[in-house]
Amino acid sequence: MRARLTNGEVVTLEKDCTCTAHEGPHWLHMDQMERAEASRAIKAQDLFELIFIDQARLQAKAWHMNRQGIVELIPEGPEVRQ
Ligand SMILES: [Zn+2]
Repeated sequence: MRARLTNGEVVTLEKDCTCTAHEGPHWLHMDQMERAEASRAIKAQDLFELIFIDQARLQAKAWHMNRQGIVELIPEGPEVRQ
């Protein structure tokens, strides 16, 4: 995953953990896992669960992005922008 910073620079987000199950930073992996949880909640029509998961997910994502001065995440390949 690449990211655009506040100064316009585009950088590649490096792996920051020892997990073997994913590439890139751990917080982005967690974000993707929680997004999958949220879509399960949508399918189950469990709106309280969905709101709970997604609110926490977006807060954590915003925190990590602010901390690193990221203004935009740029997925590699044909993935849809998040
Ligand atoms: Zn990890």
